[in-house]
Amino acid sequence: MTKHNHNPPHVIIIGAGFAGLSVVKELRKAHVRVTLIDENLYSAFQPLLYQVATGGLNPGDVSYPVGGFASRRHTRYIRGELATVDMALQSVKLTDGRKLDFDYLVLATGMSANYFGLPGAAEYTFGLYTRADAIVLRDHLMNGFEQLSADRGRREFAVTVVGGGATGVELAGTLGELSSDVLRATFPDVDPSRMHVRLIEMAPGLLMPFREKLRGYAKKQLEGRGVDVLLNTRILSVRADSVVIEGDKPLHSDMTVWAAGVAARDGVAGWGVPQGRGGRILVGPDLRVQGTDRIFAAGDIALNPDNPSPQLAQPALQEGAHVAAQIKSLIQGGETTPFSYHDKGMMATIGRRSAVVELPRGPVVTGTLAWLAWLVLHLIYLIGVRNRVSTMLNLAWRYVAWGHGGGVIVGDEPSERLPSETSPALSAGSREGSGSPAGSGSPGGSGSPGGPDSSGTAPSRSGGTSSSAGTPSSDTSPSTGTDKPTSDTA
Ligand SMILES: Cc1cc2nc3c(=O)[nH]c(=O)nc-3n(C[C@H](O)[C@H](O)[C@H](O)COP(=O)(O)OP(=O)(O)OC[C@H]3O[C@@H](n4cnc5c(N)ncnc54)[C@H](O)[C@@H]3O)c2cc1C
Repeated sequence: MTKHNHNPPHVIIIGAGFAGLSVVKELRKAHVRVTLIDENLYSAFQPLLYQVATGGLNPGDVSYPVGGFASRRHTRYIRGELATVDMALQSVKLTDGRKLDFDYLVLATGMSANYFGLPGAAEYTFGLYTRADAIVLRDHLMNGFEQLSADRGRREFAVTVVGGGATGVELAGTLGELSSDVLRATFPDVDPSRMHVRLIEMAPGLLMPFREKLRGYAKKQLEGRGVDVLLNTRILSVRADSVVIEGDKPLHSDMTVWAAGVAARDGVAGWGVPQGRGGRILVGPDLRVQGTDRIFAAGDIALNPDNPSPQLAQPALQEGAHVAAQIKSLIQGGETTPFSYHDKGMMATIGRRSAVVELPRGPVVTGTLAWLAWLVLHLIYLIGVRNRVSTMLNLAWRYVAWGHGGGVIVGDEPSERLPSETSPALSAGSREGSGSPAGSGSPGGSGSPGGPDSSGTAPSRSGGTSSSAGTPSSDTSPSTGTDKPTSDTA
């Protein structure tokens, strides 16, 4: 019996990512009323955000309107952000004050950056978790190129990527290709050697979940693209203009991108649900939130401590489908069953014609074949025919013609300038160790009077998500599954 005794039961799903949309899809024919709530009007395809950030794709290529997806599946869509959950009354409250009753609730809100409490990381690094993050990153990147062109012979442009997981590797690889191909074509007056890309990883290798052979391949491929790969390197702090590493002088960095770890957003703590490592919501084997009967969690945010799923698109999809099946079973008076993840393998791309694929108990593939497999799978799992066509065209253009000028999608000048653009002293330095120590690390940044960071508020460069600095977690950056997100067509 449901508390509200209405028929059909009301299922509320919070989060229109891989997991949330998968629940909607599987419930489309069930005898339930479904409401899907997301703070955004679109569902973002995270695996291709780095292409938006590096000017290869338009933001719209990787976003799909949630309202359209929902209405075609007899689901009501509400734009809103979950604020609190009232377990006793079976209701949720949104940040705008709206209250909704539920019979079943699914929490599928994904993750955000985990800065592990590292000083300066939340303030001075760029994130890559949302569409807004990707746009902010792209605009600063393009502005950095433009600055190189404008400040002829005067400065270099150093980008540091923190984290050698799949996200860090694909971003660093593409940045390396940008500096060697696109920069020359788009800004012919800039010597490409003035752009410097480095990838810093604390572990002894890149792509740690992959076999050693593939890890070595990835490193070699990155280095072949001019990326400086620093392994076994611990970052002590991030400053406006540099990254401070253990046992060495600070490394000058105009832009530092954080791809080193994920954690639940701060807001989850206010929902009254049990949280585990990285702030993830603790669930039982059937994906019901521990201590509850009618609340489920799925995707990156859910953690079964006895059998944790990787934080990838494929587990999110499978968990979403499992949650829908459990709800249908409970409504019919049945029992729940444990979730079991069907591992289809992992893949990560490094750049043009370079990727690694590892199948479970199967062969490994590298190079062009792996890259084509990566490309095809991403296109298949991208939601919407139009997005697939535009992504295919834009990626084809990028990889076939990007050395011929016009190869990057540009945006607007960022509203917030790079810290190093505000101070000629910083701009003129050499690649590494040139950051002025004076003032660095303080909220005011390194000598940037009047600049955006000089107010003392030091806004995070992440465009869309709240930070989770200090949230205890050792979860690593997501690596890449061979099988990806929802394959619904528009
Ligand atoms: C840059 C990047 C690259 C990646 N590449 C790959 C890859 O190649 N392969 C792979 O398998 N995985 C990849 N991943 C991981 C994969 O994207 C995630 O595992 C997957 O998105 C998890 O799905 P989810 O549904 O749990 O969460 P998400 O897809 O993150 O969706 C969560 C949704 O919840 C919404 N939301 C959050 N909080 C609230 C709230 N309080 N109220 C309302 N709505 C809210 C958000 O707006 C979002 O739409 C990548 C991740 C990133 C960040």
